[in-house]
Amino acid sequence: MSVLTTRFTELFGVEHPVVQGGMQWVGRAELAAAVSEAGGLGLITALTQPTPADLAKEIEKARTLTDKPFGVNLTILPTITPPPYDEYRRVIVDAGITIVETAGSNPEPHMDLFKANGVKILHKCTSVRHALKAQRIGVDAVSIDGFECAGHPGEDDVPGLVLIPAAADKLTIPFIASGGFGDARGLVAALALGADGINMGSRFMCTVESPIDQAVKQAIVDADERDTELIFRPLRNTARVAKNAVSVEVVRILNEGGQFADVQHLVAGARGRTVYENGDVEAGIWSVGMVQGIIHDIPAAGDLVRRIVTEAAEIIQGRLASLVTAVGVAS
Ligand code: NAD
Repeated sequence: MSVLTTRFTELFGVEHPVVQGGMQWVGRAELAAAVSEAGGLGLITALTQPTPADLAKEIEKARTLTDKPFGVNLTILPTITPPPYDEYRRVIVDAGITIVETAGSNPEPHMDLFKANGVKILHKCTSVRHALKAQRIGVDAVSIDGFECAGHPGEDDVPGLVLIPAAADKLTIPFIASGGFGDARGLVAALALGADGINMGSRFMCTVESPIDQAVKQAIVDADERDTELIFRPLRNTARVAKNAVSVEVVRILNEGGQFADVQHLVAGARGRTVYENGDVEAGIWSVGMVQGIIHDIPAAGDLVRRIVTEAAEIIQGRLASLVTAVGVAS
């Protein structure tokens, strides 16, 4: 098969410029290892593990499944129960992890320890100004997340079609594009817009190794690009989630002047977790991006990585190359 060599693949020592992004309750060892084993970059989501000791065990488990590099996602967002970030950080370093995806807010408080231990930092953010700040404070690469994304898109609402080239115009470090990517067409587009690869979340939720109930995967296949909802807008903690009775209710309460306390019982992550575990897509809030409109199957994660890269090379060398016709210039 073909490979696509970019600044991202070279910096992180992976074969393919395809990352399986951090996903709460989804980014477990089997999925991360399957992506890495296929030559992409898989990420274990740290806070999906109830304790730092559980994260250490999850990292060990992934090591039994692949010898290839995988990373850990550490997300720092407003939360009902603040986790002991410093302990998770210590576990990441002590386990010998060499790649960390930070997300949610400024990674600076975490960087000294990571840098001192040779950990490369891929920081995910939703605006060019935050990407530039991350570059300034010394992250190794950025993942720039467009408005299409699942989870927290920030408050600027700039879609990838503008955000990615805007980032390309300003950043000097490698960066990957995130939000709305699900197939080879997206990868080619991201590369054309100036990115060095793609990050995908929702697409990897819909794979064989993804540890969520089959009914949720099927709901993603069945949904279209309009079936998401933006919650927490009035709280400036916007999150894109699946449209269901719960998310519609949360939007209504907050639009009518409600505060976080008025929706906490509806949005608690513990409740959303039951969706993934039991397959009842109406049981709570769960994250998914607009990209669900172009997700039509549930392949093995490794097959998905290989398919995307192979088809991307075909698009570049086939359809796109065939559009280029040299014409003589009249003198
Ligand atoms: P949770 O149950 O604490 O909160 C549920 C939702 O409410 C989240 O979207 C959260 O951002 C939001 N929220 C919490 N307190 C808020 C407040 N005071 N004002 C506005 N919004 C508020 O969180 P969870 O979904 O169970 O997540 C548990 C942990 O995992 C958190 O620490 C969170 O940061 C992290 N997380 C990770 C990812 C990832 O992809 N890695 C995604 C989401 C959350």
